[in-house]
Amino acid sequence: MNAMAQKRIVVLGAGESGTGAAILAKTKGFDVFVSDLSAIKDYYRDALDTRGIEWEQGHHTEERILAADEVIKSPGIPKEAPIIQKLMAQGTPVISEIEFAGRYTNAKMICITGSNGKTTTTSLIYHIFRMAGMNVGLAGNIGSSLAWQVAEKEYDYYVIELSSFQLDNMYDFKADIAILMNITPDHLDRYDHEMQNYVDAKMRVIRNQTSDDAFVYWSDDPIITRELKRYGLKATLYPFAEAKREDLAAYVEDGRLYFNKPYAFNMEQESLALTGKHNLYNSMAAGISANIAGIKSETIRKALQTFQGVEHRLERVARVNGIDFINDSKATNVNSCWYALQSMPVKCVLILGGKDKGNDYNEIADLVKEKCCGLVYLGLHNEKLHGFFDGFGLPVADVQSMKDAVNAAYRMAKKGEIVLLSPCCASFDLFKSYEDRGDQFKACVKAL
Ligand code: ADP
Repeated sequence: MNAMAQKRIVVLGAGESGTGAAILAKTKGFDVFVSDLSAIKDYYRDALDTRGIEWEQGHHTEERILAADEVIKSPGIPKEAPIIQKLMAQGTPVISEIEFAGRYTNAKMICITGSNGKTTTTSLIYHIFRMAGMNVGLAGNIGSSLAWQVAEKEYDYYVIELSSFQLDNMYDFKADIAILMNITPDHLDRYDHEMQNYVDAKMRVIRNQTSDDAFVYWSDDPIITRELKRYGLKATLYPFAEAKREDLAAYVEDGRLYFNKPYAFNMEQESLALTGKHNLYNSMAAGISANIAGIKSETIRKALQTFQGVEHRLERVARVNGIDFINDSKATNVNSCWYALQSMPVKCVLILGGKDKGNDYNEIADLVKEKCCGLVYLGLHNEKLHGFFDGFGLPVADVQSMKDAVNAAYRMAKKGEIVLLSPCCASFDLFKSYEDRGDQFKACVKAL
């Protein structure tokens, strides 16, 4: 223990995950130092100070960081950052907060990843487990960090939303139940514009799984099914898809949603709280996971029927003069906008644009033609959108603020139609975050 106590841990980045990792490392008796190139928020500085953890902000003291025995990197820091490159060059292990936290808990880990649907599915699973009275924590990209909870709480289960950036630096961590919703292009700017690099990151969710573990996945996803052939998977497979097949753990037949494995039960598809094809998949993945954990079918059914939805995901905001406004600000890639458009029951004015992550708009071209009656480009640089969509012959507007976007969309839409904010892009050109973008949308709609 003494030799261990000397181990020097450096945490890079002091947001939710970095601060949590530092607190856990301190609890475990390590020599901990936190370094953040930006200003650390007061809340996290206080959390570090009250526990006597040393930190710096606004710069990296290189000698000290390079002298670490192990470095915990926040997911927001790219591997190209000079300090990470130097650490890697000298062979210092760089791990994620989840990897670190996983060493100090025996709780069962339910890990959700995918390009889209992570937060919804994670929240759904958490909701079911809570309704079942389980002792469960919510962690990862939502809720408080896993490490922080491992340091200060005792849960039997964690439901963890994992981004590809968190998976990147995971090595020995193992998910008891791994859930992979889908793989479509996203964040390619962080993966050398190589789709396979991003795919490999997502597939890390099944790393280290044994025959005691479960892998839940959407079996109509061409990339997942292709990739699975490359892995000698030991976990029990729980594929789900819409059309019935004998091997599926969940499917739909004649308007009923069937769960088959490990316990069979079914429910009316209509009774699901969340609507749209994508949410059918999210409900299937969540129901299967709860089923594996042994939660009673009545509870799963009731929970899937009562879930309230998550803010900024196809969130109905208001009806103004017969026009419905829907906030899907979290649609930060093209595929999520595809699902949003696909679920539109009437024509809509689509507000899209922002920081483009290498988008290919061909994926939504047909749906835009079929479902849209107008387009509002909301971004600092809308040239690519003009180039792709202007030829469709729809009315278009070019704006640089949410107020102008909402006003332009409101003018274009007719009674009975919908205004949909589903931007396909990250928000950082004009907004602090997708939440800020969604909040501004809602405020502007309410001010109409
Ligand atoms: P993530 O956490 O992976 O970004 P969310 O649950 O926050 O996913 O949903 C983000 C957006 O993706 C939503 O606005 C919704 O339109 C779309 N979406 C949700 N679930 C799915 C799914 N299973 N497949 C495709 N798109 C989805």
